[in-house]
Amino acid sequence: MMPTSRDYGTEQDKVNCSFYFKIGACRHGDRCSRRHIQPERSRTILLSNVYQNPKYLDPDCRASDAELQQQFDDFFADFFKGLSAYGHLVEMHVCDNVGDHLIGNVYARYETEDEAQCAVDGLNTRWYYQRPLFAELSPVSDFREACCRQNETNECNRGGQCNFMHLRHASPPLVRELYQQLAVENRERRREAHVKEDFLRLGWKERLERMHSEAAEQYGPDLPVWNAPDWHQGSSGGDWRSEQDAPNEEITQSTA
Ligand SMILES: [Zn+2]
Ligand SMILES: [Zn+2]
Repeated sequence: MMPTSRDYGTEQDKVNCSFYFKIGACRHGDRCSRRHIQPERSRTILLSNVYQNPKYLDPDCRASDAELQQQFDDFFADFFKGLSAYGHLVEMHVCDNVGDHLIGNVYARYETEDEAQCAVDGLNTRWYYQRPLFAELSPVSDFREACCRQNETNECNRGGQCNFMHLRHASPPLVRELYQQLAVENRERRREAHVKEDFLRLGWKERLERMHSEAAEQYGPDLPVWNAPDWHQGSSGGDWRSEQDAPNEEITQSTA
């Protein structure tokens, strides 16, 4: 069946690679006979080959399961916090597959496409443990679809070579703690954004009143608000009225 225009860029479009569409990575990579269309906008990002399992790096690795789990938990917590700096992080997953296209992949989903783009731009300039990070927008929209169902019940006979995601899980108490912290941070961030939006809608008199009452709330009734940093001193760009005549002169209050 020929793909219709409505199917274009979706899984129904057989010209496109369904592995890339669902999982964000396909074992054929650039040589795939079907197309890998990277989305221009997405809430999901992919960081390829980030997590390095000591066991996969060194076949003679003698670390115990508990040590490996601790090492992974440290990585998970560190990365989770790092990614949440770019916006409202919704979820983060790490692949335990061993195939080249999935090994160590980290997927993260943000609340908005802008946040995901901001994360991609920021992460592509960064390094992690002496290795450069490679981040991209990913078409993955549903992690349940991307994960191997057999693996969830320990029945996948392809093991690490499976082409669906086999996730590596951090310890449940750590995951709970991280998501709880995230919920608090996201709430706070939303509250700040609302306060800022509200404030920008006000006229200058209301803004001034609001600033004074907030300062009084914070410092008590004795606060000499007129001693607050003055915009005449240049902290907010200086006094536009004086700019043409005396661009370099600071306006000082008369002491006479
Ligand atoms: Zn493909
Ligand atoms: Zn599998």
